[in-house]
Amino acid sequence: MAAPEPVLRVSGLAASYGKVAALRGASLAVGAGEAVALLGANGSGKTTLIKALCGFLSPSAGEVRLDGADITGLSPHRIFALGIVQVSQGRDLFGSLSVIDNLRLGAARRRRPGPEVEEMFAYFPPLRERRRQLVYTLSGGEQQMVAMGRALMSAPRILLLDEPSGGLAPRLVEEIGRIIDALKKAGRTMLLVEQNLKLAAMVADRFYIMRAGETVAEGEAAALREDPKAFAHAYYL
Ligand code: ATP
Repeated sequence: MAAPEPVLRVSGLAASYGKVAALRGASLAVGAGEAVALLGANGSGKTTLIKALCGFLSPSAGEVRLDGADITGLSPHRIFALGIVQVSQGRDLFGSLSVIDNLRLGAARRRRPGPEVEEMFAYFPPLRERRRQLVYTLSGGEQQMVAMGRALMSAPRILLLDEPSGGLAPRLVEEIGRIIDALKKAGRTMLLVEQNLKLAAMVADRFYIMRAGETVAEGEAAALREDPKAFAHAYYL
């Protein structure tokens, strides 16, 4: 039997900022229910790949497929509507609105059946008692939770998590790790850009390493867990 079509397949993707070639042939696949980590040194192209997947940067070569359908070069709003949804460290939340209103906004434009706001509090217990609190008054970790919750409310096909541990204290990094793990157990499909190798090793099934705009290596996350030092070079390649 042929292997099932992955949810997301990226083949030979290239993109530039003007004359700066930031992606030069990135290829990866994320299967249904898989959590895949994207690793690599600063400037290796991870954020650019996420931007290109969301339609904010037009690829000059290569292909992006969602559930087998070619979506290369579609606009950001069409890509979002198809279910590729980015979570970017709480930066795009509405700070002067409450937690619950931010979560509801996540559902505003969805075209598929999705969860109720109440269901989010099972994933993010600290938000339950803060549901009426304005988002700008929350801690960084709590804002990250609202951002993840809002993305889930849009009924995504795949979540793109951009540095979920970025700027958080170690205790909160662990908390975010537990949440990502719970999402995985609930069958969510995720691509996770992460500098924190320990977190990536803990939550991912597989990983890819980027260098100078290309995916240069891939493997099972079990290898990261067994010998993280062997992969520390991913950040200095
Ligand atoms: P980091 O881990 O530091 O976020 P990254 O792996 O996400 O790094 P990118 O931010 O994708 O890397 O950067 C890839 C390349 O594109 C780098 O050489 C960077 O300098 C360049 N680049 C990124 N954003 C821009 C931009 N807006 N204009 C021009 N060049 C850019």
